[in-house]
Amino acid sequence: MITDQASALHLSPVVSAMTESATLKMAQRCREMRAAGHDIVDLSLGEPDQDPPAFAIEAAQAAIAAGKWNKYPPVMGFPDVRAAIAAKFKRDNGLDYTPEQVMVSTGAKQAIMNVILALVGPGDEVVIPAPFWVSYAEQVRFTGASPVLVHSTLEEDYKPPVARIAAAITPRTRLLIFSSPANPSGSVLSQAELEELAAVVLRHPGLMVISDEIYEHIVFQGAHRSIGAIPGMLDRTVTVNGISKAFALTGWRIGYIGGPKWVVQAANKVQGQFTSGANGIAQRVAKACVEADPALMQGLAHVYRRRRDLVLEGLKAVPGWRCNKPEGAFYVLPDVAASFTDRIRNSANLSMYLLEQAGVSLVEGDSFGAPHTVRISYATSDALLSEAVQRIAKAITALHAN
Ligand code: PMP
Ligand code: GLU
Repeated sequence: MITDQASALHLSPVVSAMTESATLKMAQRCREMRAAGHDIVDLSLGEPDQDPPAFAIEAAQAAIAAGKWNKYPPVMGFPDVRAAIAAKFKRDNGLDYTPEQVMVSTGAKQAIMNVILALVGPGDEVVIPAPFWVSYAEQVRFTGASPVLVHSTLEEDYKPPVARIAAAITPRTRLLIFSSPANPSGSVLSQAELEELAAVVLRHPGLMVISDEIYEHIVFQGAHRSIGAIPGMLDRTVTVNGISKAFALTGWRIGYIGGPKWVVQAANKVQGQFTSGANGIAQRVAKACVEADPALMQGLAHVYRRRRDLVLEGLKAVPGWRCNKPEGAFYVLPDVAASFTDRIRNSANLSMYLLEQAGVSLVEGDSFGAPHTVRISYATSDALLSEAVQRIAKAITALHAN
């Protein structure tokens, strides 16, 4: 526990035990190094490099000019925004939520936290297929529940076989959390894989699912599928999405959920005590986004697919690294165990080495439950990606030469 030795003051045990978000920590480190004059290519943060669509900015300007969105919004979100999100869930995902089953929050991150707080507490277990997005496990721990990680390998395309997930479920398991397309691996669950998973969930009457679909528009072959659309699963699933990735609006901090009414009502109670609801102007922007023609999003997958291929090609020159072939999102998760030495013993050491020696910022895999890996976010320009992989190849070659 962190204490102030000079006095009786101390932090709470829960926050003392909490680890800092590795993604945000690396992004901050990168900002600091740049401010100190270092030339860093930042592949750490999962943040689109493009500008947001013009209609989103216009919606924000119109909302401010209208002068009527300045007061506290309803805790759950404006009714017309929730109705627009319900229509989006139906249109894009085949999910039948009423507006009362939809809630708007301050980013998908807070939306997920609300649901976790609503559903689990001390003594409960939450099954999380690994590699997983950094915040799931820490958010679960915060409630006093235990994350139960179900590991998978690169050979398994970082998707634990469903039998392994089923074997991790105990009478204490209340929740399963996963993302598809996945952060940090880029893996995508097929309809058949989702159906297998759904069959396991439906065998356990006390088990709920959080399906994080924030990368739904970034799929390179086939189509994104929602587990909640599988017969029997709508009542067992909370579907999470947001405007950060698809619309490059990370800074506006809007995410949302659709789910069973009893869960959404409980999440609303949590939100009412923690934030009073999401920023009103940003909610007006979110409405414009979810009402936009989904065809506008088609170009996204093309851009990221090209960048994925560029990174995978470049990484072939890195001795010993083995790569997965992501089918979605904008991350590659190479297995870098071949680069571990007496001095560079783990992925945190390796990402520090690459930051300091190559000027490339990545995120260590430990924080995603994948200790032999580093995560590369390729949500940046082709030129910077080419530069970054060349720098990585040079630095790793030098490492092996010493
Ligand atoms: N889920 C996943 C899988 C993510 O990668 C992220 C990062 N953006 C989030 C949730 C949180 O997104 P937001 O910016 O909406 O909080
Ligand atoms: N989700 C992004 C990432 O994984 C942004 C950082 C964060 O929200 O933790 O890099």
